[in-house]
Amino acid sequence: MSRNTSLGTSPWRGPIERRTGWLESWPPSAGTDGVTSAQRDLADDEVAVWPALVEDDVWTDEDGQPHLSVAQRRRWGFTPATEFRVEETADGLIFRRADPALAKVIVEPTTACNLNCRTCVRHSWDEPIGSMTLAAYQELIAGLRDVPTLRTVAFWGIGEPLVHPDVVEMVRLAHRLGARTELITNGLLLDRQMSEGLVLAGLDRIVVSVDGVTPEAQADVRSGASLELVRHNVLGLHNVRDRLDRENPEVGLEFVVMRRNLHELPGLRRLARDLEARSVIVTGLLPYTAELADETIYGYWAGKTYGDRSVWDPEIVLPRIDARSETLEPVVRLLERAGVVGQPLSRRKGATGYCRFVAEGTAAISWDGELSPCVALMHSYTCYVNGREKRIRRHTLGNVAKEPIGEIWAREGYRAFRKRVLDFDFPPCTDCGACDLAETNETDCFGNPFPVCGDCLWAKGVIQCP
Ligand code: SF4
Ligand code: SF4
Ligand code: SF4
Repeated sequence: MSRNTSLGTSPWRGPIERRTGWLESWPPSAGTDGVTSAQRDLADDEVAVWPALVEDDVWTDEDGQPHLSVAQRRRWGFTPATEFRVEETADGLIFRRADPALAKVIVEPTTACNLNCRTCVRHSWDEPIGSMTLAAYQELIAGLRDVPTLRTVAFWGIGEPLVHPDVVEMVRLAHRLGARTELITNGLLLDRQMSEGLVLAGLDRIVVSVDGVTPEAQADVRSGASLELVRHNVLGLHNVRDRLDRENPEVGLEFVVMRRNLHELPGLRRLARDLEARSVIVTGLLPYTAELADETIYGYWAGKTYGDRSVWDPEIVLPRIDARSETLEPVVRLLERAGVVGQPLSRRKGATGYCRFVAEGTAAISWDGELSPCVALMHSYTCYVNGREKRIRRHTLGNVAKEPIGEIWAREGYRAFRKRVLDFDFPPCTDCGACDLAETNETDCFGNPFPVCGDCLWAKGVIQCP
């Protein structure tokens, strides 16, 4: 049942109707499990689409109990045991699952690469180079068919995805699941044949890593990679997409900022325009070698806790401001005293960290099929946090080629880890660094078990990913 109320006429949209409640009869062909007939009898060339909601309103009954439709419960993966956290904010109540559902899978097709960037983590590990077998990937896809909360499959990790001979087939299989598909690449192997394959496979978004807007800066960080070839390939991709009359993939750029390429930042917008990119993400550097340890543009303040007001560090709330140098220069001088600029990690008062991987229901699968909770824990390596050498030990929870991913996700130890990370009850090692526990991710002064996250620069918002 839907109830429509006439609210008059809008000069922009014509008659306005407000619909309350949801369509109880939706989806029209859904059975009791909320699965449409189209989903049950999927032909080879069809794409599954998880039940899409007409709207997300929730009824309450006469006892004040909220009620959800079958389609809503399935889409969000609710079971009788699902727990929520309710947050009361000035603009309403926010219901969050106490334990996020699996929504995004990052797949690392290979750790092989056609480049040897100075920033690459492979300079600090002794793991073998390997590639995922298509058979292992197919097992993963089979497991994901039973995960109605899945929204995105992304192809990245360490290594260059386009080196993998089956990457187009991998994208195609993920697209057929009905998931949004994304891929991060250095752009050098994106030739015409690869572009056609990816467009036809249904890739939704491609993010190209560039670390300079001039050929010299790009070649300096990316071991001689040609910016001209990247430009040629990305424009070629647009041509292929137009010729095939497809909307996607959308193009984005990723840039790792450090002292040696900081001066390139102003040119990023122009490069984005030249490459018809719709998004640009600038991330901080996680140094994997001592040589790069003083290349970072963040420091002690990277671990700053948000939301705590004090007389020596008052909260500063700014209005929307036009991004012009005459307006921004005074703002920069104001913010210099705050120590750090960037978006708040979490609205949670006093939060010392916020992990997007865990909060957004992400799992990262390395080339050997092992599942980790995030990209940071996919491999063992050495890195430098504020100049301190730190040894990270890999953390895996199961292998998607041997057991369904949904079963690994539901495992008690994994759930307990996600809860620890969501609560972020870790000490602030990034600011402190006072004891040798910070030399590894084994434990911390709160007595947390392996792996501990108090020194994680992803959770501090320094390292960002698309
Ligand atoms: S493109 Fe990525 S994987 Fe390849 S060398 Fe550079 S940082 Fe490493
Ligand atoms: S574990 Fe050591 S470095 Fe981390 S906060 Fe505690 S005392 Fe500081
Ligand atoms: S906080 Fe960091 S190390 Fe911990 S799960 Fe998140 S990304 Fe991984």
